[in-house]
Amino acid sequence: MSSNEATITLPNNKTIKTPTGLFINNEFVDSVDGKRFKTINPVTEKEITTVAEASEKDVDLAVDAAEKAFNEVWRYSTGAQRCKLLNKLADLMERDLDELAALESLDNGKTYKDAKRSDVPTSIGAYRYYAGWCDKIHGKTYESQKKFSYTRREPFGVCAAIIPWNFPLAMLSWKLGPALACGNTIVIKSSEYTPLTALKVAALIKEAGFPKGVVNILNGYGKPTGSAMAYHMKIDKIAFTGSTATGKYILKASSESNLKKVSLELGGKSPSIIFADADLEEAVKWAHSGIFYNSGQCCTAGSRIYVENSVYDEFIKKFKERTENIKLGDPFESDTHQGPVVSKAQFDRVMGYIETGKKEGATCLMGGDRHGKEGYFIKPTIFTDVKEEMTIMQEEIFGPVAAISKFNTIEEVIEKAHMTTFGLVAAIFTKDTSRAIKISNELKAGTVWVNLYNIVNPYSPFGGYKQSGMGRELGKESLKEYTQVKTVQINLDMTM
Ligand code: NAD
Ligand code: MN
Repeated sequence: MSSNEATITLPNNKTIKTPTGLFINNEFVDSVDGKRFKTINPVTEKEITTVAEASEKDVDLAVDAAEKAFNEVWRYSTGAQRCKLLNKLADLMERDLDELAALESLDNGKTYKDAKRSDVPTSIGAYRYYAGWCDKIHGKTYESQKKFSYTRREPFGVCAAIIPWNFPLAMLSWKLGPALACGNTIVIKSSEYTPLTALKVAALIKEAGFPKGVVNILNGYGKPTGSAMAYHMKIDKIAFTGSTATGKYILKASSESNLKKVSLELGGKSPSIIFADADLEEAVKWAHSGIFYNSGQCCTAGSRIYVENSVYDEFIKKFKERTENIKLGDPFESDTHQGPVVSKAQFDRVMGYIETGKKEGATCLMGGDRHGKEGYFIKPTIFTDVKEEMTIMQEEIFGPVAAISKFNTIEEVIEKAHMTTFGLVAAIFTKDTSRAIKISNELKAGTVWVNLYNIVNPYSPFGGYKQSGMGRELGKESLKEYTQVKTVQINLDMTM
């Protein structure tokens, strides 16, 4: 076994071989300094394996590889060639769906079932969607008597992406898909908490036949690795998903270096608004998965639930019943609903918020505690009677913690919904379609869901209002983030 391949044994005793090096120029290599770090299984708190850790020097090597690949090969690729490669990658991910889902579950703690039916198919869907765009990206023509002008949508060249740990495969695909479709090469840093599946995809990228250097994947921490990318003078565009604090750091790094273009998908504190006329069973079901899906570790988490006064008690009763049925445990067991949170750091952060909620006087209706003695398991937690100014109503918790409060009028609930620095998503539950449309128009959020939650698809643009981000991912919108427009003006007069 080379130092850059590990054989990992799953809880069901199956084994998976997976790369552990840095993926540069289609090879899995050690870092220049030879440093490595551990990735942890959040169920056992034990090491799964170690991976190579990129330093600034490795970032330089990856950028050089991406630059060379762009200049010598990729900029001459046709849309049809890129389409074929992206579809081939999607085919290989379908072939290896079980392994990808198992590794995602092992490294992150999410259930194998969810990884298999959601994370991996979502990623495959994004690659296929952007495969379809490769040969449909073009400019416009503008004509007048004396001039002929046209625009071209050109790739930036070397792009970078920094991704988080909550949906490692999906976040990879939301960056890689459009960046490659538009003809860029790319350097990506995975999260230090979940490096494994990006490396598995790297192996498939090589197998699919992508030319060397087109995709480079680094394992490493925010500092120095991510920071070196954000400040890099040869990276023309950077896409980031993660916390607002880090997003601001990246924007600052851009302004202090080469003004690389920046797109940011940051956090949220999203409201679920339940009106008295809603189908209450349905509203409970969706609002529940809105906050508890993926152990609450979703940028879209519906962490503020506002319920109209007249159905408040009934809603709470049903919501609590549903929460009592959540089974915590081994993510590989088929009847498990919720695994651990991703890391010790995240566990401590979430438990800290729970303590603050109790101290500030919110009612902890259930949960509020760890589950078991080993692993980063947190019981699904419900706070009721939560006031707007309380910390748990203001800050992104990113864990299985719901904050519920009541309202009387539409004006009041819209005002409350807006009492946040975030604006990623919002959800409304009502049978009154005109009210749903009117309120959707009012809400300051990049996505509004009506009578459902957490529905994302490759064709619907996704991103934030306010401090939830800049730019959009997915859909045709994302093509704008990975191309720049060139205008060519031609004098027709002289040729007459
Ligand atoms: P983070 O923003 O620090 O990490 C996200 C990514 O950014 C990781 O790859 C990390 O290595 C990298 N990074 C960190 N510091 C960097 C820097 N200075 N320069 C460049 N890259 C850097 O998030 P976290 O510490 O893992 O989690 C903290 C909180 O962030 C969570 O509790 C949650 O509220 C939020 N978060 C949001 C999302 C999301 O999807 N929007 C994802 C993860 C975390
Ligand atoms: Mn891990």
